[in-house]
Amino acid sequence: MDYLLIPKLFIAFFVFLFGICIGSFLNVLIYRIPKGENFTTTNSHCMSCNHRLYAKDLVPLFSWIFLGGKCRYCNAKISAQYPIVEAINGIMYALIFWFVCGAEPRIALFGYCAAFSALLVATVIDWRTMEIPDSMWITVLIGGVITYIDELVSEGFDLHCLIERIIGFFAASGILFLLAVITKGGMGGGDIKLMAACGFMLGWKVVLLALVMGGLIGTLYLIFMAIKNKGKVPRKVPFAPHLSLAVVICMFVGTNIIEWYLALCGIAHVHNHNHAHDTAAMIFSSLANLI
Ligand SMILES: [Zn+2]
Repeated sequence: MDYLLIPKLFIAFFVFLFGICIGSFLNVLIYRIPKGENFTTTNSHCMSCNHRLYAKDLVPLFSWIFLGGKCRYCNAKISAQYPIVEAINGIMYALIFWFVCGAEPRIALFGYCAAFSALLVATVIDWRTMEIPDSMWITVLIGGVITYIDELVSEGFDLHCLIERIIGFFAASGILFLLAVITKGGMGGGDIKLMAACGFMLGWKVVLLALVMGGLIGTLYLIFMAIKNKGKVPRKVPFAPHLSLAVVICMFVGTNIIEWYLALCGIAHVHNHNHAHDTAAMIFSSLANLI
């Protein structure tokens, strides 16, 4: 048994709590960015009765649960999207800490978490409005830079790694850009910028894998919609949700999938880029430790 397991679980729990608090802020962004409202000075208020909300009404996750999903003042139902976004953000922060950062307190944690939250907000906003706010891809890029700083601190400067990230910036975004030119705007500029930022975070190999995976997820979604609507396919489909899901999967297991694939082809080891290297092994060893 790992003698650091209890402290690590303790940190993971705090990372989860931090995640649900940030999730609460993400809900504010999700509602206010598309409306162009200021999200720092306006007080929180109930969407139906406009009553001002106080700290006791705004405890992430718990307020919604204890109020039974209703406004304390007017009893109107509060969208389940609030607790869902908070819970997802909290759980994913803890999983990123555990699996992507190897349950070690690294600065990369902040980078990956910032990128995850920005992808989550981009997903919900793109789903509702077909737009991706610029602030979201910029946040992913800042997250990517933080993961690069972590790499510099732990491994020292390696030109190869930097080049891998710079190529990553242009790889998937370049393909999407070409698609946009060919289809005359069938691909949004927001998706292109989002994938450029993800490419700097993941490196070119993993981001290309994410692009392929995102395309597959998007295709499955279209098939599902076609079956559900009896042959009718929606004319415009937001791509950010599919891409973001793929990027998050690749954040965890992208390097594993590429190594597995290269080993299958008999090609040598790839450089471990973002410490997600041993994710699968870690999942098993931590499960074994828990038992
Ligand atoms: Zn109310």
